[in-house]
Amino acid sequence: MKTAKPAATADQATSAHAAHAAHAHEPAQADSQEAALTLAEEYCRERGEKLTPIRRKVLELLLNSGRATKAYSLLDEMRQIHPGSAPPTVYRALDFLLSAGLVHRIESINAFTVCHDLTQCQHGILVVCQQCGSVTELHQPKLRQALVAQIQDAGYRLASDEIELKGLCAACQAAEAVAGTGAATPVAAAK
Ligand SMILES: [Zn+2]
Ligand SMILES: [Zn+2]
Repeated sequence: MKTAKPAATADQATSAHAAHAAHAHEPAQADSQEAALTLAEEYCRERGEKLTPIRRKVLELLLNSGRATKAYSLLDEMRQIHPGSAPPTVYRALDFLLSAGLVHRIESINAFTVCHDLTQCQHGILVVCQQCGSVTELHQPKLRQALVAQIQDAGYRLASDEIELKGLCAACQAAEAVAGTGAATPVAAAK
């Protein structure tokens, strides 16, 4: 399970979302990231598709971020690595990752996040912090099936694979509580 947790430092210095990153991931996760990328590569190969270097890089940036990230932030990061990166290149890579089911589009904050399950056995239910964009994908197949069944009974079908709940993460709740006490702690006006 991927749960963004608060950490003291952000090692990505410049991108917009890193400016208020309270959940930067530790280097210890480098191994699991590499494993995730290898898994994604194998998954694409089995489907007769290719995780090209640019697609892989975009996926890696999302894994690094550990939270929902906006397309323009990904483009910014891409340009730090490959200065000539054009928006369509990054957007096409995102489209591929979406259609392959490797990433989710988070409608409520117009951002993207890596699927918790890169083997695509089962999508979960996404809980999205509306403040900082951290995302937890609840792996509750029965709950999801029951929900989908109810939706179908009501005569609807879901418009996408994503089932998204709006939330406020523990770190943001804590920040809000501190702000509420009147303590002089600036709360990042997350956008
Ligand atoms: Zn998923
Ligand atoms: Zn949050």
